[in-house]
Amino acid sequence: MIADLHSHSTASDGELTPLALLQRAAQQGVELMAITDHDCVDGYQAVKAQWQQHHMQLVAGVELSCLWGKRLVHVVGLNIDVDNPQLSAGLAQQQLARKQRAKLIDAKLTKCGFTGGLLYATELAGDSQIGRPHFARFLVEKGHVRSENEAFNRYLGAGKVGDVKELWPDMATVIGWINASGGVAVLAHPLHYKMTATKLKALIVDFKQAGGAAIEVISGRQAKDQTQQLAKLAQQFDLHASIGSDFHKPGTPWRELGQVGQLPAQCRPVWSLFSHRDDVEQA
Ligand code: AMP
Ligand code: MN
Ligand code: MN
Ligand code: MN
Repeated sequence: MIADLHSHSTASDGELTPLALLQRAAQQGVELMAITDHDCVDGYQAVKAQWQQHHMQLVAGVELSCLWGKRLVHVVGLNIDVDNPQLSAGLAQQQLARKQRAKLIDAKLTKCGFTGGLLYATELAGDSQIGRPHFARFLVEKGHVRSENEAFNRYLGAGKVGDVKELWPDMATVIGWINASGGVAVLAHPLHYKMTATKLKALIVDFKQAGGAAIEVISGRQAKDQTQQLAKLAQQFDLHASIGSDFHKPGTPWRELGQVGQLPAQCRPVWSLFSHRDDVEQA
């Protein structure tokens, strides 16, 4: 089964509209999919009535920004009920935090001598969730850096001046929202946090303790030993396994929809937890 349970549309920082994303996934042979935009479900809402025509199954998803101690962590919610009041209130809070964070990022960049970022990023974001990628575009377009990657490496990435994190809720809170809505909480891309093995285990212990159910054993195309390491952690901590490309745009073959391999045989796929929802067929 080709599953891709992590992807982004224009509702957050992806380049494809939700419908174009769905169509591309279908072309790539994806059979089970989740659109997991940052802190919003608008992309999923836009196409939830249309996925049946695409010979696939779409489950509701979201990627929530949160804090584990002082570290930024992403938790994916899958098979969530997007109408659940607790989750909806949580999403409203996240969206407000994004707007407030944008002002703080702007103030930091202004101090570096880069003025006008908020206006530029707000216009660029339009109706989508404003985030650091919009400020990265601003820095590129105004000639302050040569690439978005450089914008993150110098100004917006982890530990840099524009990496404003303090507005995010803690990890247990967002897991609570996901669980309240009947969804499954998945620790996103565990190796992106660049933690030591000991720290990562401590994170996974807390994640599970707070009600987390799965970890992404595959995130984008990755080395075999990374997959093995994560499969082992899933087994050790009795967690289910998820798989996703974290697709944002065409032209990134290492993040192509449905093209990131298969979960190792010993893993228990996260979708085995989806069966209790009436509106989701067992895949
Ligand atoms: P935000 O959700 O606003 O905190 O922004 C985080 C997003 O920025 C991630 O989901 C990625 O899509 C993007 N991102 C992170 N690091 C980089 C990078 N080095 N180059 C380009 N985009 C990045
Ligand atoms: Mn992103
Ligand atoms: Mn992420
Ligand atoms: Mn993502």
